[in-house]
Amino acid sequence: PVVTRFAPSPTGYLHIGGARTALFNWLYARGRGGKFLLRIEDTDRARSTPEATAAIFDAMEWLGLDYDGEPVSQAARAERHVEVAEEMLAAGTAYKCFSTQEEIEAFREAARAEGRSTLFQSPWRDADPATHPDAPYVVRVKAPRDGDTVIEDKVQGKVTIRNDQLDDMICLRSDGTPTYMLAVVVDDFDMGVTHVIRGDDHLNNAARQMLVYRAMGWDLPVFAHIPLIHGPDGKKLSKRHGAAGVEEYRALGYPAPAMRNYLARLGWSHGDDEVFTDEQAIAWFDLDGIGKGAARLDFKKLDHVSAQHIAMMEDETLLSQVQEFLDATSQPMLTDAQMDGLRAALPFVRTGAKTLPHLIEKARFILASRPLDVEEKAAKALDDVSRGILSELTPQLQTASWKREDLETILNTAADAHGMKFGKLAAPLRAALAGRAASPSVFDMMLVLGRDETIARLEEASQ
Ligand code: GLU
Repeated sequence: PVVTRFAPSPTGYLHIGGARTALFNWLYARGRGGKFLLRIEDTDRARSTPEATAAIFDAMEWLGLDYDGEPVSQAARAERHVEVAEEMLAAGTAYKCFSTQEEIEAFREAARAEGRSTLFQSPWRDADPATHPDAPYVVRVKAPRDGDTVIEDKVQGKVTIRNDQLDDMICLRSDGTPTYMLAVVVDDFDMGVTHVIRGDDHLNNAARQMLVYRAMGWDLPVFAHIPLIHGPDGKKLSKRHGAAGVEEYRALGYPAPAMRNYLARLGWSHGDDEVFTDEQAIAWFDLDGIGKGAARLDFKKLDHVSAQHIAMMEDETLLSQVQEFLDATSQPMLTDAQMDGLRAALPFVRTGAKTLPHLIEKARFILASRPLDVEEKAAKALDDVSRGILSELTPQLQTASWKREDLETILNTAADAHGMKFGKLAAPLRAALAGRAASPSVFDMMLVLGRDETIARLEEASQ
């Protein structure tokens, strides 16, 4: 059975690259009846505040990446990490190293002067324990001195690292605390992780982490190191690019299903498929489809994918996405009446809406109530002549059947009678019905607003 995991270190926010790593692990497990686990790598106590951890949970929840079981705290497992270090000591695959910082520096300097590798080679590696001093020590795992370490990576292919590039990795510090490199391996093993899918900034760590697997005689997981995400300019993504954290995309109003789709396509592909559902992504996702090159953020593509999702989402899902967005951005949520209005307007307001706030703006005619706040540009269309025409229209609208064809006839006839094109008449109508110069079609708005509200708005505007 497949077991994947996402192992973020709390930094105060969930980086978009981390979110994509989480998504890949989630897709891989969900498509194979496997488990997707979450481990918080909270050993850096200063950074691992409750707020920083909560930011990760929130972002995962918003993205809909549900994990199996309880999240694991790496810090809480320190005793177990020490236990493994002690097992390696007992087995002789690790040793106590009493070299001081000064001695290590001196070793490096001498090596540099002689043009040798400056990787530290501890004199304690094969020392008889009887000769051990009563002094502070670190525990190091014995790395092979000759040959190569080969990582069979599912994305990077065969990666060969010469063993003379690997030093004897420290797994317990002199204060007895386990290092991160030890903790990751022990946790992955204990959690039964079969596939380690993570950023390729950890590729070199994999070679070192393999030392622990070997020393303990544990089976290696499958490694898949995925290329990082770059900004639109091709540079490594940072806060400078504006939208490095998942929270920012949420605040911009990209619906979570669109975000999952977009992130899935960032570095992974399935033929030419650009827009797809979760079910499709889960069925299609495979490590073979992950590219070797860095993926670039492309905000235009994100807008496109988002618009497609808004266009195809189930009504009720879309409505709850709107409510969630308003809530998350501390705006008043929609009342039941507004929800009904929006539901009725969805067939046309959703078309072309790139984000949830864009959808809300397009639906503003139905969400707003009288007295309408009329933007300046729209108010200009409400001159004396236009106001006169609007008030002439109301008696006809009183008796009209509220059908599109009849409304079209009435408004077109009125435009003709005043020697204007319909487009000219549409401007004051938009101003009256939506308070905006740009709005959905006048007929769409009238049909959704209904007779009474339409007439009341025309009367208000013609005063
Ligand atoms: N905690 C590491 C990070 O946030 C990930 C470690 C791993 O996936 O093995 O970069």
